[in-house]
Amino acid sequence: MQTNQLINGELVAGAGEALPVIDPATGESVVTINEASPEQIAAAAASNEAAFDSWSRTTPAERSALLLQLADALDAHTPELAKLESIDCGKPLASAAADEMPLTIDTFRFMAGAARTMTGSAAGEYVEGHTSMIRRDPVGPVAAIAPWNYPLMMGAWKLAAPLAAGCTVTLKPSELTPLSTLRFAEIMNDILPAGVVNVIHGRGATIGHQLINAPEMEAISVTGSPATGMAAMKAASQQIRHVHLELGGKAPVIVFEDADIEAVIETIRGGSYFNAGQDCAQPCRIMVADSIYDKFVADLAAAVSTIQLGAQEEDGVEMGPIISEKQRATVAGFVDRARETAEIVTGGNNANRAGFFYEPTVVANADNDAEIACSEVFGPVVSVSRFSDMEDALKWANASRYGLASSVWTKDIGRAMAMTSRLRYGFTWVNTHGVASPEMPWAAMKGSGTGCDMSVYSLDAYTAIRHVMIAH
Ligand code: NAD
Repeated sequence: MQTNQLINGELVAGAGEALPVIDPATGESVVTINEASPEQIAAAAASNEAAFDSWSRTTPAERSALLLQLADALDAHTPELAKLESIDCGKPLASAAADEMPLTIDTFRFMAGAARTMTGSAAGEYVEGHTSMIRRDPVGPVAAIAPWNYPLMMGAWKLAAPLAAGCTVTLKPSELTPLSTLRFAEIMNDILPAGVVNVIHGRGATIGHQLINAPEMEAISVTGSPATGMAAMKAASQQIRHVHLELGGKAPVIVFEDADIEAVIETIRGGSYFNAGQDCAQPCRIMVADSIYDKFVADLAAAVSTIQLGAQEEDGVEMGPIISEKQRATVAGFVDRARETAEIVTGGNNANRAGFFYEPTVVANADNDAEIACSEVFGPVVSVSRFSDMEDALKWANASRYGLASSVWTKDIGRAMAMTSRLRYGFTWVNTHGVASPEMPWAAMKGSGTGCDMSVYSLDAYTAIRHVMIAH
């Protein structure tokens, strides 16, 4: 198992404290990996700065070719990387390989193309005797912080766009799930010049904190919780830098009386419990029209109660464990508090087996302003609430501090258009939920973040608009 960090083109053992990596399906330690030391973090940041001058001057075609090589290498190593991911996160192996790796790989392929689309918007004579041009140039080294739910895919989102833009990057995966990213670091080291990408390991409050505050870093890119987003903004305020944040979500799923109920339930059964519900776009706050509510809840509970829990390679496994004992206790706390005012119609308990499993859970009759309906649980739990009027549904959905994913289910195209134009969410699906593509932005509003991952717009976080003027 590759447990070394990548710093300035060298694979080196961490010189900091040793942390165990736990398999959430058993609760047992798989391997112990040392964190980076303060000196190693400083060396990583310095090497990003040193490499920036030449990397930022590579042509888009050169960067594109290297990004395509990274995609091909990921493709070639899919079975190995998916296996590491499934051990580290506890997730079903088949899903890690078939559901996550294709988008991880395609992110690099897309960004290889996007690297060649960067343009300034104007050139011409705006002052007599002077020619102006607008350039879009990379900002400098980027401190990138990734979460534990899709470690390699989130790492890909954090790496491919800044590399395409011409930035150098130091990436810190979550301390809970470093395995796939450390192996990818080794693969990247065979392809990229020294110092262009570093990968360091360690906890957020110490190692992450030093990374985002390193003086060389001109941008901070975080996918994680709102608390980490705030830490990034604080770090940026100490020394002005770009900040790009993809944070938590609480996706409303607004189901009108004319919706295809079977399709909604199939989407929730598949999507809300995918990755044990640990997904920022998880369809989790179900708001259902009064007239269909009772049947909807009964059908949903019946469907969810058949989801099969299991370890990574167990026969028929559909849902794995929660990432940690701590996160499972957080999930259970939300459900236990909800019991007082709402009704648990299926699930609601730790599963009776080793590891950090929690039953797929549906909480019905949740008030629209209840904690379970408004706060991110980040586990296999959905709440179901009622509405009778479209304006109320909009008002409750938009009252949320979160603004990431949302969906609307109706056959009435006019109603769908009205809803999509007024929902204050970075993305809104109509009659589906969770379908992603690298061409389209994974965009955040309000407390869910700033800017987006994926799409050509993700390059905005890593580039600056510049004016160059030539006097004739
Ligand atoms: P987290 O914020 O606890 O950890 C994320 C990363 O931030 C980890 O690498 C962690 O070590 C690091 N970190 C923590 N504190 C830090 C600090 N003070 N300075 C620097 N780094 C720090 O989040 P998590 O528990 O790993 O992930 C779950 C959260 O991520 C959820 O809120 C989820 O919605 C969000 N998420 C969002 C998206 C998205 O695209 N918007 C995608 C996946 C996950």
